[in-house]
Amino acid sequence: MITIENYINGELVAPFEGKYIDNYNPSKGEVYSQIPNSQKEDVDLAAKAASDAFPGWSKTPKNKRSEILVRLADLIDKNLDELARAEALDNGKPYKLATRVDIPRASANIRFFATAILHDASQSHHMEEGFTNYTLNHPLGVVGAISPWNLPLYLFTWKIAPAIASGCTVIAKPSEVTPMTAYLFSKLCIEAGLPKGVLNIVHGLGAHAGDAIVSHPKVKAISFTGGTATGRIIGRKAAESFKKTSLELGGKNPNIIFADCDFDAMLNTTLHSSFANQGQICLCGSRIFIQKPIYEKFKKAFLAKLANHTVGNPFDEGTKMGALVSKDHLEKVLGYVKLAQEEGGKVLFGGNQLTVEGSENGYYMEPTVIEGLDFNCRTNQEEIFGPVVTLTPFETEEEVLEYANSTEYGLAATVWTENLTTAQRMSQELESGIVWINCWLVRDLRTPFGGVKNSGLGREGGFRALEFFTEPKNVCIKY
Ligand code: NAD
Repeated sequence: MITIENYINGELVAPFEGKYIDNYNPSKGEVYSQIPNSQKEDVDLAAKAASDAFPGWSKTPKNKRSEILVRLADLIDKNLDELARAEALDNGKPYKLATRVDIPRASANIRFFATAILHDASQSHHMEEGFTNYTLNHPLGVVGAISPWNLPLYLFTWKIAPAIASGCTVIAKPSEVTPMTAYLFSKLCIEAGLPKGVLNIVHGLGAHAGDAIVSHPKVKAISFTGGTATGRIIGRKAAESFKKTSLELGGKNPNIIFADCDFDAMLNTTLHSSFANQGQICLCGSRIFIQKPIYEKFKKAFLAKLANHTVGNPFDEGTKMGALVSKDHLEKVLGYVKLAQEEGGKVLFGGNQLTVEGSENGYYMEPTVIEGLDFNCRTNQEEIFGPVVTLTPFETEEEVLEYANSTEYGLAATVWTENLTTAQRMSQELESGIVWINCWLVRDLRTPFGGVKNSGLGREGGFRALEFFTEPKNVCIKY
């Protein structure tokens, strides 16, 4: 049994009250580690450490900050296999996916912001009347970072990297469901020589440790990724003390397929955009809209592909889909399949929990395809966040835009067409933070990342993320 510890003031420490929570391996359904059940007292200690570290870290030359962060990124690469194994065990995702996506992206996040600060430039504004203004960008101070379980180290580093690079000090809370790689990461911070107090990792439940971070008077900003309902609670609470917030929330993304698309490319990518990471990516295209002339052809080809889409233990060579993250989550997703049937949907493929030989208690589920639902029923409006997609035929651009834009969410959309004019018109009209044309989940870290409507507030990525963690100050000189 592994015991995870908090990382506060440069050291691994037990929680103040000495209480721990069970952490499950979802592929076996067994408890395999204990994580600190941190409370306000732990967050107070982290806030003191972060606050004491801030003057030194914010005045550390950019080159030096960059050097330390690049060292940390190198250490992630060096420990790729251990981190990928830990991620697969903790989350249930295929080990191969963690090796190819999660862990390389974690080091890329850190390297990206470590080098971005070297290319930052400030503005100046000259006035003919004899004045010059220039802008100083001050790091905010102590900031909070709260991340979810679906891409644990990937999203954890996506938040802390710009914060630390810009000179802030951080109290971070990974999801209590997948704490392991953040724990291993804290050991790498020690190895990389990150000065004490610059990053503090407090493990525990959202309602206790998370809430204590959001409420803490020393914390100047909250960068949060997670569910829309949690984002609403955090946004409300943070507003009481005028904390800056960046909220990356849920999605119910449309995947729109026009009859003129490159069919094979679309089919292969649609398999991934539907079921990658067991459908537990906020960007997955869970509502598939297919233009009528190719509806039957698509359905047949898609279902044929699924016959080879093996669900299995994350470490098995042939596994395409691993386990869902927790028992509660599996039950929630299965509940949505039942709801879809009550709403008149027909399950074309899957729909059931699966038993995997040798991992009988794991939280496995078949990839699931449903048709015959109205675009505005609950199944097509609420975020399921699992391996469940719906198929809906459409005729015209106007019709599919109505379907696509009908939800409270607006995170990402995918459009498949060879017609540039259609692609351009759709991109203009889709209510979405990101539109992928003839591709999915292609990420350039310089681009704005985030959602509209109830999918979030603010944008991450590129210099925008560095701006979030800084406060501009105008200096005006008379000459
Ligand atoms: P969640 O909202 O349950 O939890 C996210 C984090 O918030 C966890 O660390 C949790 O402990 C913490 N938390 C919970 N209640 C809190 C509170 N009251 N105060 C402070 N912290 C609190 O989300 P989840 O189930 O971990 O993740 C799945 C959700 O995340 C999905 O809705 C998914 O769409 C979303 N997501 C969004 C993005 C994006 O970039 N927009 C990326 C990944 C996941």
